[in-house]
Amino acid sequence: MRTELSETEQHLLEKARSAALNAYAPYSNFRVGAVVQTELGEFSGCNVENASYGLCICAERNAVFAAVAAGARRVLTAAVSCIDASADMGTNGRMPCGACRQVLAEFMADDGVVIVDGAGVWKVSELLPSSFLLHSPD
Ligand SMILES: [Zn+2]
Repeated sequence: MRTELSETEQHLLEKARSAALNAYAPYSNFRVGAVVQTELGEFSGCNVENASYGLCICAERNAVFAAVAAGARRVLTAAVSCIDASADMGTNGRMPCGACRQVLAEFMADDGVVIVDGAGVWKVSELLPSSFLLHSPD
């Protein structure tokens, strides 16, 4: 994990913060935005909640699925921002959940970069070591 951001990483983080403004989070009031940089460009996502709680989906997965729906297959960098996270939540309250880590691992290289607003910059392999894969990573 590191804390310094490159200019490109800062740009992605700003886009993730903007995407969070579109979140539909009337139940948790915890807005999250994500952006993924792929071989076909950048795709944004936000969390979308539902009265049937099990149907809620995270910003990170929405961003990845939007990219895949547009034909992308390789996520190079991901950024996520929990704009409503309070200072007392610390780092853990800002990190991608386990499901999102698995989805990122499906489309990212082990050394792919995940920028977590207020928490640092991580490699996919740091977030999810020995991820479940049914194909050989390339
Ligand atoms: Zn998640």
